[in-house]
Amino acid sequence: MAYLVKPKDRAPARRERLAPDPTLPTTCVIGAGSSGIAAAKALYEARLPFDCFELGSAIGGTWVHQNPNGQSACYETLEINTSCPRMAYSDFPMPEGYPDYAAHHQVADYFAAYVDHFGFRHTITFDTRVDRVEHTDDGRWRVSFTGPEGAQQREYDNVMVANGHHWDARLPEPAYPGTFNGTQIHSHAYNSAEQLRGHDVVVVGSGNSAMDIAVEASKVARSAHISQRRGQWVLRKFLLGMPSDQVTLPSWLPWWVTSARLAFGAKLSGNVAKLGLPQPEHRPGQSHPVQSEGIRGALRSGKLLPRPGIERLDGDRVVFTDGSSVPCDLIVWATGYRVTFPFLDPSLVSAPGNDLPLWKRMVHPDLPGLFFIGLLQPVGAVMPLSEAQSAFVAALLTGELALPPTAELRTELAADDTAYKKRFYQSARHTMEVDFDHYLWELGRERKRAAERVTGS
Ligand SMILES: Cc1cc2nc3c(=O)[nH]c(=O)nc-3n(C[C@H](O)[C@H](O)[C@H](O)COP(=O)(O)OP(=O)(O)OC[C@H]3O[C@@H](n4cnc5c(N)ncnc54)[C@H](O)[C@@H]3O)c2cc1C
Repeated sequence: MAYLVKPKDRAPARRERLAPDPTLPTTCVIGAGSSGIAAAKALYEARLPFDCFELGSAIGGTWVHQNPNGQSACYETLEINTSCPRMAYSDFPMPEGYPDYAAHHQVADYFAAYVDHFGFRHTITFDTRVDRVEHTDDGRWRVSFTGPEGAQQREYDNVMVANGHHWDARLPEPAYPGTFNGTQIHSHAYNSAEQLRGHDVVVVGSGNSAMDIAVEASKVARSAHISQRRGQWVLRKFLLGMPSDQVTLPSWLPWWVTSARLAFGAKLSGNVAKLGLPQPEHRPGQSHPVQSEGIRGALRSGKLLPRPGIERLDGDRVVFTDGSSVPCDLIVWATGYRVTFPFLDPSLVSAPGNDLPLWKRMVHPDLPGLFFIGLLQPVGAVMPLSEAQSAFVAALLTGELALPPTAELRTELAADDTAYKKRFYQSARHTMEVDFDHYLWELGRERKRAAERVTGS
């Protein structure tokens, strides 16, 4: 039943400009990262009038190294952990010469090429920050923004929020007791191994960035330790000689099948607890996949030493919960991100504990016309899901699709939310988790239901 991800065909390039249809509702898209450009393309091709505002001067958000927007978490050695065919938009495969896991600059080039291939760069207004989004008395959206021409305001029928959720650094709360004499950075501020060279480094965390930075530290730091409160199952990027995410199963299969696949991958990869990291307390498949090719070698070489969670900071040492301590002059907190929307009043929309329940992870149940794109954490890549969400919203706005009645929408949302949250152990990391293949399948099924609401059949 399993099959390999099939290669996609590139859709023809668009040469002529499409004129928006002024009779259709207007939309403001916030951000031109991989989610915002998926939104802009869907609106553009549906001839829906819209503005897309991008804080920086580049397309690609996270994937633009040293992005002038000041919000990218990209570091010099960053490469994708979801393989190229998995990450590509459905009508625009990544170039054939790309490696299985592309480097950040290749990914950024790919996003820029996508916009130019489909000819909608002119719809994006760069160097423009959306400052405020307010709901008007007549149910529209007033957007205040500041760009090269100063501060302005416009009203729209809809807003598609695609501001990303990997830029607002989350530090341990409450902070660990004690004082520290050295430097502390969040992984968001990590750029290259030069920051680690010659230092006594403690990397704190158990996600993908923690793995990458700890491996780099093992190569250049005077001493390198990785501290984890909670153990993780760490998958290899390649299994049986191929990218580990290339075997897919029929997407209608329930979550436990994906979970079993992840568990199988984790077992095949080998438990890093055998190399001194904490034993995971959850079963394989009950947490967001963490992948690393280098962590095992770094731990085996003795150049990266495993430690449990931190108990306190003690001047020029870090003390761990097992009573051990190490000299340290640089702590890298790879402790994740907060989901925030600085342009929305928190009394209207906020995500305490990173939790913002949305219908199909995109529709706000109480605020018609407010949509979120890419605000999910897939077991798989984000881009094809943002693309499917964007197509869905565009079809809602043209009237091709209709949402369920509010009461039904709320019931479905609550049921999905409960099911999603049961899958993984409770943490701010796992509030928006979806199964890539199943989500796409589910959205396809929703499209049929949503079209039937319009046609009445
Ligand atoms: C280190 C790291 C590795 C990752 N690896 C992978 C991976 O391998 N595969 C994968 O699928 N995902 C990965 N991710 C997840 C990542 O979030 C997605 O790949 C993708 O970048 C999400 O795109 P986005 O457009 O939603 O957000 P972003 O890429 O963050 O883009 C958001 C855009 O919105 C703009 N913006 C923000 N606020 C405003 C405002 N107020 N006004 C105007 N513009 C604004 C920003 O300037 C930015 O360009 C990784 C994330 C990190 C941090």
